[in-house]
Amino acid sequence: MTDEKAQTQEFKLDPDCELRFEVESKNEKVTLELKSGLAEVFGTELVKGKKYEFIAGAKVAVFTWQGCTVELVGKTDVSYVAKETPMGLYLNCHAAMERLREAAEKEDTRGPITMVVGPCDVGKSTLCRLLLNYAVRMGRRPIFVDLDVGQGHIAIPGTVGALLVERPSNVVDGFSQQAPLVFHFGHKSPQANVALYNLLVTRLAEVCSDRLQANKKARVSGIVINTCGWVKGDGYKLLTHAAQAFEVDAILVLDQERLYNELVRDMPDFVKVVFLPKSGGVVERSQAQRTEARDQGVREYFYGSRTPLYPHSFEVKWSEARLYKIGAPVLPASCMPLGMKAEDNLTKLVAVTPGPNLLHHLLSVSFADSPEDDVVQTNVAGFVCVTNVDVDRQTFTVLSPQPRPLPNTVLLLSDIQFMDSH
Ligand code: ATP
Repeated sequence: MTDEKAQTQEFKLDPDCELRFEVESKNEKVTLELKSGLAEVFGTELVKGKKYEFIAGAKVAVFTWQGCTVELVGKTDVSYVAKETPMGLYLNCHAAMERLREAAEKEDTRGPITMVVGPCDVGKSTLCRLLLNYAVRMGRRPIFVDLDVGQGHIAIPGTVGALLVERPSNVVDGFSQQAPLVFHFGHKSPQANVALYNLLVTRLAEVCSDRLQANKKARVSGIVINTCGWVKGDGYKLLTHAAQAFEVDAILVLDQERLYNELVRDMPDFVKVVFLPKSGGVVERSQAQRTEARDQGVREYFYGSRTPLYPHSFEVKWSEARLYKIGAPVLPASCMPLGMKAEDNLTKLVAVTPGPNLLHHLLSVSFADSPEDDVVQTNVAGFVCVTNVDVDRQTFTVLSPQPRPLPNTVLLLSDIQFMDSH
């Protein structure tokens, strides 16, 4: 099962089997090639003879419905063929969603809104990717919503966002991120500010609903929503709030029967709650691996992955930065002005004085021109990272995908830090 040598390995897969492999060691590359038959990676079909290159951190499953031969070149840390997979059940979910889309098309209503939930490391993101890929392969244009602020598959960690999916995800890099709609949350767990999280989820649901109204193809195709792995206590309440905000039709519960039973109990009858087993291939990640995956996401935002990007670095005067964060400490109710709830403070825009405290922090560049606009509920254009702070000269240096100057808009400070090692 474990394989330490650099080598060429050929695998003949029977129908309904998958080859699982991992690349762990830094600077290693593993190339995957489909030699014959048909195969897919998380719902995207492989092109025969094309070489797909994976780097450290990749955990991949090559699944075949029909049978195939594939080749791996390079040092894999794990590589084995699994005969037991839940793919048949996942395909049934896709088929049920497709039937709803057909009905929506005929009756000019909206297609299925499906939310995927479950604890950490059960394959939620992977199931979303699979369902979205199967949908686009049928000619659909679904919206992908990511509420998982910990990883932030649509932009960077600390954000929630939505993306119209128009083509299958890239086998190596995932979905292309053209024109995503992204909101700044600023923390790696919803726990850090539940009031803000719920506000952004409600806002995102409104914007998605407008987009469905405006685009018939998307409307018929529906939405697939990925969620956080925090499913107990307040985390559970966030899930039920998201289900309500998006008016979901179905919730797919991965792996946890307790969560499944709670949702069956609490959801209205028209919401179909479905239990699905997790795939034996899903790899559990340690805290260190999660942090590394988060860093990797930010690094890719600035530097690209296969196609390199060349970010800019320039100085910004403190006096020119319009810097804010969202949420002030909650005061006791007795200290609040009349008519305001203590919670309101959590979603308030608060000015931040630049200083050494900014070092390594990510800043979201808001689409809002002025702090008088509703900045909290306005989406963001992109991100910069503070790489140096010069107290004497009262400037800070940013890493930015765009050249100088920084647009004259509001910047939102994130809790999340990124050490630029380039
Ligand atoms: P999180 O708790 O971070 O939200 P998750 O539940 O969304 O995690 P995924 O990100 O989908 O889980 O999966 C975790 C890892 O397992 C990913 O690196 C993914 O590529 C890998 N993985 C998923 N399914 C398989 C499989 N069948 N074989 C091999 N690896 C897999």
